[in-house]
Amino acid sequence: MRRKTKRSNLETLFGVSKIPYTEQIKHIVDDIEPGAVAGVFEEGLKTADEQGGLKDYRVLDGGVLIPLDGVWYHWSERIHCDHCLRRRKDGKTLYYHSMLGTAIVRTGSNVVLPLMPEYIRNEDGSEKQDCERNAAKRYLEERGAGLARLKPTFLGDDVYACHGICSRIRDRGMSYIFTCKDESHRWIAGPVAWGEFESYKRRERNGRNHLEYRYRWANGLENRCEEERMPVNYLAVELWNEEKQKITYKNSWIRDKELGKDTVEQIAESGRARWKYRERVQQCVEEPWI
Ligand SMILES: [Zn+2]
Repeated sequence: MRRKTKRSNLETLFGVSKIPYTEQIKHIVDDIEPGAVAGVFEEGLKTADEQGGLKDYRVLDGGVLIPLDGVWYHWSERIHCDHCLRRRKDGKTLYYHSMLGTAIVRTGSNVVLPLMPEYIRNEDGSEKQDCERNAAKRYLEERGAGLARLKPTFLGDDVYACHGICSRIRDRGMSYIFTCKDESHRWIAGPVAWGEFESYKRRERNGRNHLEYRYRWANGLENRCEEERMPVNYLAVELWNEEKQKITYKNSWIRDKELGKDTVEQIAESGRARWKYRERVQQCVEEPWI
């Protein structure tokens, strides 16, 4: 803005005359505990809600979509601290910092409303490494009650489709749509083999391509992960391309609420909306050698 109009918002709105360089900002904020800035996110969300900014984001049963997603924001083979997560490979140690990022997203829009992240980091003197799942459990326990009024549906990849996380969401009266891959959820093989599914197809023309969306779902299955039994509903979708004579997209999810022909398309579309958040955190560092 300064280049364009000779003045920037920082000067006119906040009276900041000199804008510090990124390195200087990093230097200053390094010593601040992340929790100290939580209020900024809460205040922003409250204002957006009061001004009607969340209206368009209430998409599923009048609630919002919140993806949970682990992202790295620093890694090094040299520089490290007590809170670093560690990974070893080929005799080398990689030190990194990551966080469970969250935001309010919606399909058909790239504008996301960021929420306070949960940091994934080792505590002082802790022998055990912190992980994405533990961070998600802390997040739900600490912030779940504050988010319940938004009637959220949490979105996430396969790693979240476990009892510890799903039960914490369900116990707080909230919902989830989590990716559920067959290979990491073996219990799904039974119902697949028994053909216990309802199905629905929809054809669509996209330019020269004739596409067929194939939905299969089953309600009241039993998720047998982590030794615990939990009722879940399962949805799988495939996209068949007639010209290419192959399936060009496939995905599957578990969901707590009952699935039906009138809802499966919206659920599949919502499940995919978690990528909206991924697109917005591209500036975070790429994860090396994984
Ligand atoms: Zn560190």
